[in-house]
Amino acid sequence: MAQPATHYWKLPTALAVALLVGAWLGWLANGHVASGVALVALAEVVLLLTRIRHQARPMMAPPVLVSPLQHDRFMTRSRRIASSLRDLRNAASQLPDAVVLLDQNQQVRWFNHAAEHLLGLRRPRDRGVLLQQRLAVSDLSDWLRDGTQEPLNDVAAPGQPDSQLNVSMLPFGRHQHLLLARDISHLNRLEQIRRDFVANVSHELRTPLTVIHGYLELLDPEDVPELAPVLGEMRMQSKRMGQIVEDLLTLSRLETQHQIADERVQMAPLLATLRKEAEALSQGRHQIALESSAEADLLGSPRDLHSALSNLVSNAVRYTPAGGNITIRWQRTPEGAAYSVSDTGFGIPATHLARLTERFYRISSSRSRDSGGTGLGLSIVKHVLNLHQAQLRIESTPGVGSTFACHFSHARLLMPGGCDET
Ligand code: ADP
Repeated sequence: MAQPATHYWKLPTALAVALLVGAWLGWLANGHVASGVALVALAEVVLLLTRIRHQARPMMAPPVLVSPLQHDRFMTRSRRIASSLRDLRNAASQLPDAVVLLDQNQQVRWFNHAAEHLLGLRRPRDRGVLLQQRLAVSDLSDWLRDGTQEPLNDVAAPGQPDSQLNVSMLPFGRHQHLLLARDISHLNRLEQIRRDFVANVSHELRTPLTVIHGYLELLDPEDVPELAPVLGEMRMQSKRMGQIVEDLLTLSRLETQHQIADERVQMAPLLATLRKEAEALSQGRHQIALESSAEADLLGSPRDLHSALSNLVSNAVRYTPAGGNITIRWQRTPEGAAYSVSDTGFGIPATHLARLTERFYRISSSRSRDSGGTGLGLSIVKHVLNLHQAQLRIESTPGVGSTFACHFSHARLLMPGGCDET
């Protein structure tokens, strides 16, 4: 067995880390589970100190041939280590997030109070049990068995079924793992309030806007020529507001929808319609081509897929100067098939790419507004694709052009004859 002294040299580092972790704890209370990196450090320190104490225990009696001074030093150091260990354990115990230390066999080595409350673990009963077995009846069981490193969101808390958890697993030490579970029920409630608010406001605005728009349509600019430019602007703006309200309602519906009623979406007529829509929007300002080689239909919601795919076409037309080329493609890929729209337009600087699907995120507000955009199009595309387990990939070079591609898996493909791919 290693002597405790062999570990003492690690203590200054471990305690320094612990100090840092202490500083983190305040932030952690309101922070995100991603702060688990700090928890890993904390876990390392707790384990190190546990090991030292464990190994030091048989030696707690001072060595026989030591001077009284050495004896006092030894005892002081032992007391300090024990006290640090207690403090660190207490700190970890009081964390609002559940923390479970697992060994290489996924057996529980240690857990804090929040783990009792949220995961239903009990001490001493659950020390040393297989976590997957202990949580066998919960939604966490499959995730633990698969050993995935991807965090799991919105899973019911085994110890508190009304609460939802965000759970992640962080590797540390020698094949050990730290399971972190955070109660996100209050965040979900806030998110629900936000969704309801947006949906209600949009719904309430719809009727007055329809009335205003209707009256504006009735007014003939020729009757009041001096107000003609004002009337034109009012009509345009009321139409734009109407479109924003419709897009917000579409987004609210998509956000609350977890599944779609799958239908066969025939791609050949849909692609022909998309091309016609592009030509109508472009009004001869662009060269528009269609390349369809996939020979497959899609399984999904015809209305939502049409809305998403036509959004990409509309963007390509609106963000490509006159004289540019736009190509709509439907091709096979190793993963399944991809629908893409390429343009030779303004392009997008790389720094914006990751945020393009956020609501109202625009590179240039004036350009978006002038071209009739609402800033919600790509957000709708992302939600529709999520519902179809598809992915949006964007490639773009400023001044050269962009390609927006929707990647569908084999499971979403149907052969035009009738049978599916899988
Ligand atoms: P908008 O209604 O403003 O077009 P979107 O959500 O559809 O909103 O797009 C978000 C932003 O992404 C746009 O404002 C635009 O800046 C950029 N964008 C989208 N498509 C293209 C494209 N094909 N070429 C260049 N920029 C684009």
